[in-house]
Amino acid sequence: MKQIPRIRFAHLPTPVEPMENLSKLLQRSSFLVKRDDQTGLAFGGNKTRKLEFLIAEAKAQGAKTLITAGAIQSNHCRQTAAAAARFGFECILVLMGDPMEKVSGNLLLDHLLGAEIIWSSHEQLDSDLKKAYDSASKEGRKPFLIPFGGSNPIGVLGYVYGMKELIEQGHRPTWIVFPTASGGTQAGLVLGAKLFGYRGRILGISIIEKRELLAEQIRKLIEATADSLEVKIKLEEDDILINDDYLGGGYGVVGEPELEAIQKLARTEGLFIDPVYTGRAAAGMIDLTRKGIFTHDDSVLFWHTGGTPSIFADKYTHLMLKIFD
Ligand SMILES: *Cc1c(COP(=O)(O)O)cnc(C)c1O
Repeated sequence: MKQIPRIRFAHLPTPVEPMENLSKLLQRSSFLVKRDDQTGLAFGGNKTRKLEFLIAEAKAQGAKTLITAGAIQSNHCRQTAAAAARFGFECILVLMGDPMEKVSGNLLLDHLLGAEIIWSSHEQLDSDLKKAYDSASKEGRKPFLIPFGGSNPIGVLGYVYGMKELIEQGHRPTWIVFPTASGGTQAGLVLGAKLFGYRGRILGISIIEKRELLAEQIRKLIEATADSLEVKIKLEEDDILINDDYLGGGYGVVGEPELEAIQKLARTEGLFIDPVYTGRAAAGMIDLTRKGIFTHDDSVLFWHTGGTPSIFADKYTHLMLKIFD
């Protein structure tokens, strides 16, 4: 297997903790949590693992500026801005959203980290990103483009090795459940499982996309990453498990299921999950448990991918208060 440059700055291995109270409450399976909300780098999250490889690549290319894009409360953008500050890059973020929205949550942190923000919209994102890249190039700022969610064959390596880490910690849960969006986390976990020998089920709860479309993107990411590592793997139909039953009102639209899950984990385990990603995935996990998908013999590991600063996003705090009604 080819070695690919990595700069180690994440706080690894992240702990695996039992969720005994949640297990008691749901009375079915035993639940664990892998604390990737504690990966370090500006409040942590899953993007830290990807950035260890992406930053190494940006340095190798002699880049001076990191450019990436995301939603107004993007965790990926916040963590990229932090990595830029720490490793001496400038940072340009192309954000989808309303520039008049109150500065809070991740957006506040983007400002504190000194990122340059370019406002865009869903429709204009690709062209605005290209414009930002081209003008940074012309100005001699040596831009390095990090894709949406950090999900390319370099970023995916973060979770290939994340899976290796879990196995080395001695944990072999029968299920791993987590939120899946740009697919890099899932691609890494699935490829890591093949390479390092994990045989349980890896179930992504979709946050944005319908199942078929996302599965295809993930398949391509796995294949491209395997190529870059110069390894051969055989993917089966059911290696890429995605459940898209919990898309609710769409990306970033926080509903009752997310709020309920946030409350439940806070009050049973003293654990914070976020309204956009982990809240939705935990809601899915709880619902699937009630439906009997996980049995008494199952151990279910919830891979906490972070995102907690968006609890403090102005648009979510008033919803959060509903929890106390
Ligand atoms: C980005 C993100 C995800 C999704 O990870 P992908 O690799 O894009 O699928 C999940 N949870 C949180 C908190 C995130 O910020």
